[in-house]
Amino acid sequence: MYKAELEIAIEAVRNAAIVCQAVQRNLVSGDTLEKKDKSPVTVADFASQAIVCKTLMTQFPDDLLVGEEDAKELREEGQEILCDAVVKHVGQVIADANKENTLSWIDRGGATGLEASRYWTLDPIDGTKGFLRGEQYAIALALIENGEVVLGVLGCPNLVHGETEGVIVTAIKGKGAKRMTLELESDVAEDIWVHQIGDVSDARFCESVESGHSSHDHAGQIAGRLRITNPSVRMDSQAKYATIAQGKAEIYLRLPTRAGYEEKIWDHAAGMLVLEEAGGIVTDVYGKKLDYTHGSTLKENTGVIASNAKIHDEVIAAVKAVLGI
Ligand code: AMP
Ligand code: MG
Repeated sequence: MYKAELEIAIEAVRNAAIVCQAVQRNLVSGDTLEKKDKSPVTVADFASQAIVCKTLMTQFPDDLLVGEEDAKELREEGQEILCDAVVKHVGQVIADANKENTLSWIDRGGATGLEASRYWTLDPIDGTKGFLRGEQYAIALALIENGEVVLGVLGCPNLVHGETEGVIVTAIKGKGAKRMTLELESDVAEDIWVHQIGDVSDARFCESVESGHSSHDHAGQIAGRLRITNPSVRMDSQAKYATIAQGKAEIYLRLPTRAGYEEKIWDHAAGMLVLEEAGGIVTDVYGKKLDYTHGSTLKENTGVIASNAKIHDEVIAAVKAVLGI
């Protein structure tokens, strides 16, 4: 089950990563970083979505996709330079890319998740702040069927494993989670598994770099309650899920910073399945399963708490105590 979907999803993520890596390399060597210019990430974002949509469409032409981007901005007057740059980058991996087909590929990502029982969801560059800083980001692609995430592929170009920089983690529901290198030549997949610890105080936290995305304050208090003294590992994007799924940390807290924020499905679907299939567990701050039946957001959930499973109840108890819920 889902063998063809997995193969094409990996190909799509690898194709998109080629362009993201090229743009990020340019960015780090150029002066854009200091100017805090966001345009490079915009170009890579659109190009990544175009490439993933086009690649998926070759095999699954009828499938819908809920993507973070749409081509509306690119169609506006005065956006010709941005648009040309996107087409040029897409052309690095898809030979016949032109303005018309590139915009139509991006727009394939315009589904809401409410039209059909089967759809893909994509964050073409998750962790845009990390991308701009030259740090962690991910290309996150997942397949949802009847409200369940059944397949997840997470490309993390800057995540290191051993000698390798650039990791893809994948999962099919019920079939476990695997890791492979981002490089196209090597297709050897190894099983990955969470790390078990005897005592919750030995846990290592993973959290967002951006305190606007998850409260660092509350995380500190929760660590205190659990008597955790290890410094927390801060990184952008769903690379956090990949890190716990590979046994390199045990807890990922995404603690609400403002009332009413609805987590986006593309920020969690792929990472969640990979972690669950690696033996972990993912819930909201109340310990409730994430609910993928409401379109593009997790509006029935509040925040996200992920762990190696074994310590989950203790973590949720501490979260509830600190948040007063
Ligand atoms: P991270 O890399 O963990 O900082 O998360 C990046 C993601 O945070 C982006 O893809 C956004 O969709 C999402 N995001 C934006 N604003 C918020 C917010 N107020 N709370 C939680 N997540 C947010
Ligand atoms: Mg994102």
